[in-house]
Amino acid sequence: MTVGKLNNRSFRSTRNLSKKASLREVVMKGLAPDAGLYMPVKIPTFPSDFFDILPQLSFHEVSFEVATKLLGKNIPASTMKRIIREAFNFDISLLTLNKNTHLLELFHGPTAAFKDFGARFMARLLSYFLHIDALKGAKVKPLTILVATSGDTGSAVASGFLNVPGIRVTILFPKEKVSKLQEQQLTTYGENSNIWTLEVDGTFDDCLALVTQAFQDPVLKDALRLTSANSINFGRLLLPQTFYYFWAYAELRRKGLNSGDRIVFSVPSGNFGNLTAGVISKKMGLPVAKFIASTDMNRVVPDYLKSGKFLPRPSIETNSPSMNVGNPNNFERLMDLYDGDLKKIRSDIYGTFFTDKEKKSSMKKVWENYRYVMEPHSATAFQGLSSFRQSTNFKGQGVVLMTAHPAKFPDTVEPLIGRKVPMPYGLEEVVGKKKDSTPIGKDYSEFQNFLLRNKDRE
Ligand SMILES: *Cc1c(COP(=O)(O)O)cnc(C)c1O
Repeated sequence: MTVGKLNNRSFRSTRNLSKKASLREVVMKGLAPDAGLYMPVKIPTFPSDFFDILPQLSFHEVSFEVATKLLGKNIPASTMKRIIREAFNFDISLLTLNKNTHLLELFHGPTAAFKDFGARFMARLLSYFLHIDALKGAKVKPLTILVATSGDTGSAVASGFLNVPGIRVTILFPKEKVSKLQEQQLTTYGENSNIWTLEVDGTFDDCLALVTQAFQDPVLKDALRLTSANSINFGRLLLPQTFYYFWAYAELRRKGLNSGDRIVFSVPSGNFGNLTAGVISKKMGLPVAKFIASTDMNRVVPDYLKSGKFLPRPSIETNSPSMNVGNPNNFERLMDLYDGDLKKIRSDIYGTFFTDKEKKSSMKKVWENYRYVMEPHSATAFQGLSSFRQSTNFKGQGVVLMTAHPAKFPDTVEPLIGRKVPMPYGLEEVVGKKKDSTPIGKDYSEFQNFLLRNKDRE
């Protein structure tokens, strides 16, 4: 095995371009020591003929090609193939709604949201590195994964890491600000599992602030080995989330797209991990005319695209809870990718935002016209594509990212369509299970105490 190559220092921080890090460090640490976000030193580009071969590849094969291009020989090929096979053991599909609108369904994983792609891949990548450490005979503290969630990240990470030896997961979610079903998904792993859940009396931003502070806390640094599973972790964000952009393109080509045709992706955005992965795919050569950054009323990025001023603000509660982010932390990566050049960003990204009412009317219209059921996050992106078409007269192919299954948001969806949405298996399973979570305030010391108190717990 080529363990030595694992030390290839092919990553750097957004804040310090000269200090390099290996993939192992990137995945294990999550955040760079200078509190910047990790990026590849160089983003490799596929030759243009790769895109003519792409339509012949399955999702697993596309994923392998993209992962190998990005990581080089950091991971042995057979291991990468296994990780991909085990992580993506569920469907992905591109449903054609009308002649130029396609819905990329990313919610067929165990927790019924697209975050299963990132979390399941990252869990296996981390396991691999822990396994290598164990082979070397290193005696190490368990790895504690901290994750702040507005709903979907936490459950995808919990499900991805459940029962993985050497790893424990601590999830922070804002009390009463996730849907009932999401709360069930987060809090029913049981007190004897390796998944611990904290119910924070605050917003998602408060949860994220607690996690960020923990990473900079010297007391915790000595006591625990911490990493993050938020999309600040490149192992979760970039790698696995680029795969489906390439696959969607392959699928469009299989459906008759010509090589010069213009396509756009509309992405329902909160922390902007998903959209950043799209931009990285484009940098790798994927022919994308535009990304549409579709948000709810947490509109800091669309506002930035308009005014040139990035003004983070407290998050607002909406019916798309997983996008209620007032200070998207992948913005720093977007700046990095475009050297902070507003003109370049504007030429690639178009921003739109919608109220709850607008999302609802869009969901209703789609149901009436197509008998297709959308939930509020995906509806934001659907509406974003319409608004982009209207304001730019774009006639090409549009792909809308469908990030959650509509059964996750029955309170919003069912009254609009006048019927029940059947639950997929993974969701049905959690209903009725016993809740187990620890309430805490948004004050840092309480969180710190919890972590220290439990540091030796198995
Ligand atoms: C997390 C999430 C989003 C937002 O994705 P980001 O990568 O944070 O921009 C959108 N929709 C759903 C359903 C989500 O869970």
